[in-house]
Amino acid sequence: MSDAKKLTICHLFPDLLDLYGDKGNILSFVKRLEWRGINSELIEVKRDDKISLADADIVLLGGGSDREQKAVCEYLCAVKTDFWSYVDDGGVLLAVCGGYPMLGSYLNIAGEKVGGLGIVDMYTEQNKNRVIGNVVLESDFANGKNTVVGFENHGTKTYIKKCQPFGKVINGFGNNGEDETEGIVYKNVLGTYLHGPLLPKNPHITDELIKRALIRKYGQAELEPLYDTLEDEAHSYAVNRFSKK
Ligand code: GLN
Repeated sequence: MSDAKKLTICHLFPDLLDLYGDKGNILSFVKRLEWRGINSELIEVKRDDKISLADADIVLLGGGSDREQKAVCEYLCAVKTDFWSYVDDGGVLLAVCGGYPMLGSYLNIAGEKVGGLGIVDMYTEQNKNRVIGNVVLESDFANGKNTVVGFENHGTKTYIKKCQPFGKVINGFGNNGEDETEGIVYKNVLGTYLHGPLLPKNPHITDELIKRALIRKYGQAELEPLYDTLEDEAHSYAVNRFSKK
């Protein structure tokens, strides 16, 4: 019997939430696993499909327009307790931009208050202006202090209560433009406004999420280093170009 490891990746609503190529995050997981001889299986849950997180090791929720965001939020809230169990059990969940505010208690989408999944102590309000631009963070999510680069485009602002942010804003708006925080980390949940897609531009974040999924499933994870010269160059270029001088 083969002892090859395998992670199951569940992409929630790629047909509704895939703004700015969030699917690149999936490709990043799949390739970085493949390059290390780890198998992956991709499950795409689309509109009207039954949602089950029972076999998932990594779940991705992308970004989308207000209308689609609202529809997805309603689908997900119908299976709220499955999410809570998955998160409590240490399941890895990456929620990007439109998907991120759904983690909190509520989100105000274009003047309408919509209930969220209530996984994390945070809430999201409509912002006066839309914020669009490149972002640089300092984050200790992955093994020591690192930079994270990405792109934000959102009309909302998020307030995280007693929770750990994903990073400190070096350049950009982040959660709310007031407290220099960006995103949220809770157990193995990472919520962020950053597209990019996020993971190809930040391979250290991809590897951290993979590591957490492997540890949950197999009790340990030793990730072989990869030849990341191009990824590192692209990352450093973005840091240098978009950090405030
Ligand atoms: N619809 C949300 C907004 O405009 C999220 C957009 C996104 O995912 N980039 O604020």
